[in-house]
Amino acid sequence: MRRLEGKTAIVTGGSRGIGRAIALELGSLGAKVAINYRGGKEEAEAVAKEIQQLDSDALVIQADVGKPDEARGLVNQVKEAWGSVDILINNAGITRDKTLRKLEDDDWDKVIQTNLNSVFYTVSAAQPIMQEQKFGRIVNISSFVGQAGNFGQTNYAASKGAVIAFTKSAAQELGRYNITVNAIAPGFTQTEMFDKVPGEIQEKLLTKIPLARFGKPEEVAKAAAFLVVDGDYITGQQLNINGGVYM
Ligand code: NDP
Repeated sequence: MRRLEGKTAIVTGGSRGIGRAIALELGSLGAKVAINYRGGKEEAEAVAKEIQQLDSDALVIQADVGKPDEARGLVNQVKEAWGSVDILINNAGITRDKTLRKLEDDDWDKVIQTNLNSVFYTVSAAQPIMQEQKFGRIVNISSFVGQAGNFGQTNYAASKGAVIAFTKSAAQELGRYNITVNAIAPGFTQTEMFDKVPGEIQEKLLTKIPLARFGKPEEVAKAAAFLVVDGDYITGQQLNINGGVYM
């Protein structure tokens, strides 16, 4: 069923991995989807093509969401193109894994800018638009690492934990305008980001997952679609899609 027919969506970092899966899922439900990317133009265009084959509209927009003007410009471009911004999925994220001893200022800054500041920039640009519409569905992709912490990921864990805190606060402010704000905290999910983890470490990690396998991007995408489509009375929550690795 095309339950998002007539709705417009932005997916940051929609060119691959979890973002790509979410863009396709929303497109398959009939939404018009703006696929944001930073460097991967061809990949983003391929996602747009797949969505168009599903008979939904798609736009590809280059922007580094860690930069305030570009992130806000992304939101405003979608409003100009389609007249509304109904759904905002803050998915773009990076890692710069190092132990604290080796972590440099630039590793800290880039991760915080991309994973956390971006969420403030896009939400602050979308808020007035959604407020006027009296409708908005915002989903921020956090991580179980933001809940549990992780060796070698102080910067990443800090950014993802803060995304959850931001989500709960924004939900309290925006609820009165029928804008819901939720977070999804995926566990280890098979994407290019996760491929960077060395094989022997992946084997060790597997032993810690009750469901005894890594997650699929499509499983996170289904959760995002649930919050958007059926989550009218759900706000300020974190939905864990993690195979039980953190409870
Ligand atoms: P990938 O590395 O596979 O994809 C990341 C996406 O983000 C790409 O589309 C990339 O586009 C985009 N991106 C990165 N930086 C920017 C930027 N500054 N501006 C715009 N787009 C950007 O990652 P995943 O799909 O694995 O991760 C998606 C989200 O899920 C992230 O927030 C991640 O932290 C989170 N997550 C992932 C887990 C996992 O195990 N995979 C576990 C828990 C959370 P481009 O290549 O064009 O830069």
